[in-house]
Amino acid sequence: VPTVGVVGRPNVGKSTLVNRIIGRREAVVQDIPGVTRDVVNYDGLWRGRRFTVVDSGGWEPDAQGLQKAVAAQAERAMSATDVVVLVVDASVGATSTDEAIARVLRRSKKPVILVANKVDDERAEADMAELWSLGLGEPIGVSALHGRGSGDLLDIVLDKLPTAPVEQFGAVSGPRRVALVGKPNVGKSSLLNKLSKDTIAVVDSVAGTTVDPVDSLVDLDGEIWRFVDTAGLRKRVKTARGMEFYASLRTQAALEAAEVAIVLIDSSEPLTEQDQRVISMVADSGRALVVALNKADLVDADRRAESDAELERELNRVPWAERINISAQTGRGVHRLAPALRRALESWDKRIPTGQLNTWLKELIQATPPPVRGGRQPRVLFATQASNRPPTFVLFTTGFLEAGYRRFIERRLREDFGFAGSPVRINVRVRE
Ligand code: GDP
Repeated sequence: VPTVGVVGRPNVGKSTLVNRIIGRREAVVQDIPGVTRDVVNYDGLWRGRRFTVVDSGGWEPDAQGLQKAVAAQAERAMSATDVVVLVVDASVGATSTDEAIARVLRRSKKPVILVANKVDDERAEADMAELWSLGLGEPIGVSALHGRGSGDLLDIVLDKLPTAPVEQFGAVSGPRRVALVGKPNVGKSSLLNKLSKDTIAVVDSVAGTTVDPVDSLVDLDGEIWRFVDTAGLRKRVKTARGMEFYASLRTQAALEAAEVAIVLIDSSEPLTEQDQRVISMVADSGRALVVALNKADLVDADRRAESDAELERELNRVPWAERINISAQTGRGVHRLAPALRRALESWDKRIPTGQLNTWLKELIQATPPPVRGGRQPRVLFATQASNRPPTFVLFTTGFLEAGYRRFIERRLREDFGFAGSPVRINVRVRE
């Protein structure tokens, strides 16, 4: 089992963070300077992967003082674990003790993750920028007390852990989850039936299965996918008039359970308000997206161009989503769905290393600086990708960035790093 070492000086909230990481409230031992204690191991589980959190203790009464003691703790953590997490207190900033630990950790060949704890508000988030000075890369902001950011932190920790053998990983992570959504009568059941020709299992509530009984496992293009919340589609329960509210609840539930959505649109008819509502729900959900224009068999060739142009105007909320013409009835184009889903998920999963991102950003801003506002030229200090799924970036600036400029940055991010099929979020943090 891979191991994670957690180090940091007293009072930074290390014990609270360890509690968050292991997901329960054990009597995690407090660090009390001058008190010797043993190394303590805690078992953690996240996204189906097991790991051990090693609290390496320390704090021997030492005539040479606190800095020596924490440095020794860091040395021990480095030698005994796969990944080291250094916790600092963002509300205090980097102290000389933090710097002493960082010096030790920078020599390490093992991955080190810098965690800024007590990031409880926007102010603290801006202050966090100063922690770059520790030379350990991007500080990950969390609030151990409120649980904020601890999921992101665990994702990052897992990324850095030695990977489990492939077959084991495949087994625990499971098939990727797809929501098939669209207004009533657009062809959802028809498409599911078409795809399910090669279905290996319609999952039911067999004791011991981990898959929810409302989902279907479908073999597409040699890969198993989990279509979530398909019970209603299989039963062909038709949504009566006035049931729209329930249809939208179903869409919401499916999106929540899914990683990527296929939005079905009836391309033989003009888009309706209901289509727009579904598209908005997907756009707001932050899920990856493939747009499938169904009933292509009903659209004759000379009307195609016209209806495509019309659709493009309507789909302007999600210009980044791939569109695929299909016919659930004849099966035309259906084989193109799986590759499009894979591309969308690849974008959705993507992480740009902070160094690469900032090199790129610097060039971009030199060539096209942000517009002057109120006589002031806002400076963009740096950027970091705070998370993926969906890719979310934080820009630290000295002033407000206009929406147009933010869209420009998003467009260039998409062009240069490739995020087709996935939403990209850009947050701006203004440092006073
Ligand atoms: P759902 O409510 O979204 O599940 O829609 P259904 O799958 O029940 O389809 C509604 C109607 O559209 C049915 O009569 C289907 O036979 C028809 N339909 C679905 N897909 C296509 C298609 O690609 N071409 C044509 N011509 N008809 C389709």
